[in-house]
Amino acid sequence: PADINALADEYLRLAYHGLRAKDKSFNAELVTNFDQNLPKANVIPQDVGRVLLNLFTNAFYATQEKKKNPPAGEGGETIHYKPTLTVTTSYNDNWVEITVKDNGTGIPEEIQDKILQPFFTTKPTGEGTGLGLSLSYDIIVKGHAGSIAIESKEGEGSEFIIRLPLKN
Ligand code: ADP
Ligand code: MG
Repeated sequence: PADINALADEYLRLAYHGLRAKDKSFNAELVTNFDQNLPKANVIPQDVGRVLLNLFTNAFYATQEKKKNPPAGEGGETIHYKPTLTVTTSYNDNWVEITVKDNGTGIPEEIQDKILQPFFTTKPTGEGTGLGLSLSYDIIVKGHAGSIAIESKEGEGSEFIIRLPLKN
């Protein structure tokens, strides 16, 4: 049984510090809403860790893309944009839930049903393999009988919701 809060915290730091080490201009606000009573879940920690690492990396990437092209206000003025990643954990009788929310570019509706496919990427050559989410799907859905849900709005941000069953 694994402590999902500790796992999420560990991989969040890993992703954040890894990106900062590569690029000194990288910055993002981290918000964690961890349920302190979260029950332990029977998962393979390295596998769920890989999923989280990819979700965090994708989320950070989307915020940095938006930072290059910050949104304009109603009158065309530049709005101060603060890249933010929010990680929340919660649970009920049946599952533990981890949500990874960013205020980055969002995912255009036309591609939302394609992003779980292997090799689908919108990143430049060398920056993305397009395998992260397809691997995540295999690990969460096939490997752990869990689920992945995606909520995203272009220009506003994305939310990935992972559920892992408590009974197996
Ligand atoms: P990769 O990161 O190598 O491109 P993934 O499978 O992790 O592969 O993601 C596939 C695609 O899904 C990304 O290229 C991007 O277009 C989109 N995507 C995934 N996560 C996000 C996110 N948080 N915000 C915006 N787009 C995303
Ligand atoms: Mg990825």
